[in-house]
Amino acid sequence: MAIWGKTLLSLLSLPLLWLFLWAIKVYIEWHKIKKMADVIKEHSLDDIITAIESIGETTSTASLLIPIAQKSRELKYMITLPDHLEAPWSGKTIQFTPSGNLNVSMVDQQGLQIGNTVFQEIRIPRITLRSGRQQNMWSTARYIKNSDTLRNLLSPINPQKQSDALGHIFGASIEVGGGLHWIQNAEYPKCDQCRGKMKFLIQTEGILFPKSVDFNIHESTIYIFGCAKKHDPYIQKVIQFS
Ligand SMILES: [Zn+2]
Repeated sequence: MAIWGKTLLSLLSLPLLWLFLWAIKVYIEWHKIKKMADVIKEHSLDDIITAIESIGETTSTASLLIPIAQKSRELKYMITLPDHLEAPWSGKTIQFTPSGNLNVSMVDQQGLQIGNTVFQEIRIPRITLRSGRQQNMWSTARYIKNSDTLRNLLSPINPQKQSDALGHIFGASIEVGGGLHWIQNAEYPKCDQCRGKMKFLIQTEGILFPKSVDFNIHESTIYIFGCAKKHDPYIQKVIQFS
């Protein structure tokens, strides 16, 4: 039994050892790419944004807010909606209260910040399909395919990894208007008063909020909706957990 057992064990452990070494290699490579992407982000974020926005063929209707490298010393929890959203939403500011059950309200201040993370806006390129229909382009792979400038900016990174690197540059981004991705079943809220389907405003990652809000907040995605008729409560949140 002893010899058979040992032989069997060594035969089993070889592939395991190989798998382990392969996983370490993949991890080290990805870590290197992330570091390179961080350097590119720090020096060329404005150029990356300009390159992506210039892919668009028609007026943008959605944005991605991406965290910039520099953190703010002051904590703020507010997102001012971009002016491409129609009335009454453009220029309005959603404020989060990062305690209890994460209250949301509209305030008169301006800001693009959650906690100490400050955001910068990218207008999502909107293109015209062959059918004549217009569509927002959200894919990092397609941005790279469609922009020489972007490929140039990301050129220190292996072309096969540039799309992943761009995803890393975007980080825990906030989607505004248009890009709603439910992580579970769709849960469109209805206005308490007019019973109308509320308009999707923003989608943000729970990881941006302190764990004091909810122990599991970091595993959540937060969606904010509003009633265009401004019925009280003007805006509502839906939280889904992955
Ligand atoms: Zn209403």
